[in-house]
Amino acid sequence: MAFSLEKSARAFAEAKEYIPGGVNSPVRSFRGVGGTPPFIAGAAGSRLYDIDGNEYIDYVGSWGPMILGHAHPAVTEALRDALMRGTSYGAPTLLETELAKMIRQAVPSMELVRMVNSGTEATMSALRLARAYTKRNKIVKFAGCYHGHHDSLLVKAGSGATTLGVPDSPGVPESIAGNTITVAYNDVEGLEQVFRQTGEDIAAVIIEPVPGNMGLILPREGYLAAVRRITQEYGALLIFDEVMSGFRVAYGGAQAYYKITPDLTTLGKVIGGGLPVGAYGGRRDIMELIAPAGPVYQAGTLSGNPLAMTAGLTTLKILAETPDMYQKLTEKTQTLCAGLKAQAEKFGFNLQFHQIGSMFCLFFSDKPVYDYDSAKQSDVGAFNTFFHAMLEQGVYLAPSQFEAAFMSAAHSDDDIAATIAASARAFAKVEEY
Ligand code: PMP
Repeated sequence: MAFSLEKSARAFAEAKEYIPGGVNSPVRSFRGVGGTPPFIAGAAGSRLYDIDGNEYIDYVGSWGPMILGHAHPAVTEALRDALMRGTSYGAPTLLETELAKMIRQAVPSMELVRMVNSGTEATMSALRLARAYTKRNKIVKFAGCYHGHHDSLLVKAGSGATTLGVPDSPGVPESIAGNTITVAYNDVEGLEQVFRQTGEDIAAVIIEPVPGNMGLILPREGYLAAVRRITQEYGALLIFDEVMSGFRVAYGGAQAYYKITPDLTTLGKVIGGGLPVGAYGGRRDIMELIAPAGPVYQAGTLSGNPLAMTAGLTTLKILAETPDMYQKLTEKTQTLCAGLKAQAEKFGFNLQFHQIGSMFCLFFSDKPVYDYDSAKQSDVGAFNTFFHAMLEQGVYLAPSQFEAAFMSAAHSDDDIAATIAASARAFAKVEEY
């Protein structure tokens, strides 16, 4: 049967009558790659199923959370039990302490942990805390790093903002954006220069230690250590935004992988097991400024709700207790990348393959990619051709050159072989393009 998205196209048209652009998060609209986004009917393991009856091997994994695959039986079972005890109490539970404890065991720099409902909330709250602690206003971020959509950080953000070509959003007051300084990722000298000029005013540097929102970029040797050294020298806090890399590149996140200790860390995605969760945490003396322990206000009606805590706890327990979990995820991802690279080379393409743990990305560029500007040199038209050719063959990649892909524990060797086989036909189409 020929690939068709007829029902999805009708659903998309109707959605646009009721929802801005037909979606609840911009990148889902396929505006970057063109065409119709499949409307999803369900998911299990490594697979997504759309309303047209198509089946896909999914490398988006809800943009990171689904590290165990979709509808994992243990997570589903735990959620069913939790559901019967009520969905939200707005009062403390044992689950919240248990999850905070598991997070601190994995990420020891997070001495105290506060749960919120999204990564955006986590980074927003961490910035307020850093400003209160240091009594300074300025923030440093890196071009192409995305930390959510609140005003202070929607400045030269990657991800959907890059795909849609709106790096800075209207509606962000100049008075707020003016406190955010942007530096190129992987550029130590650029960061040092900013600190030499205005270091005494900088409350915090927020960084994706492994950026996954301008495609996947890896830190150069010694880069994160230099960022740590510079922030310490000037008394600015270092915030690792590990919403994507946390429990993903390693159980203890990028800070365990690279052995760098930040002052504050933000988490999301995997720790919610597919339910809406974010968290921020860090040094006890800083975190104790948060209300009600201290004066910095931050709250949430549904924060720490029992369903999200249950999905997160069950997911983390499986990650912690399955022997060689991260080793196997890494090996599968390496096998896939090596297979894709071999196919690309058969067609004479010299592409940039980046991989760490179960995250990977291929840039349609023949030059090294190490920051936002070099990522933007990629041939987006070639990516879009590749993307659609893969989709039509049942492989669901992120609909943008500027996003990372994710392997899950549910992906089988057959899934990987099928993906590599599909890529041969997709690279053939890129050759024609
Ligand atoms: N930080 C990072 C590193 C992210 O990747 C994201 C989301 N992709 C966010 C923050 C924002 O998280 P959320 O979408 O849950 O608000």
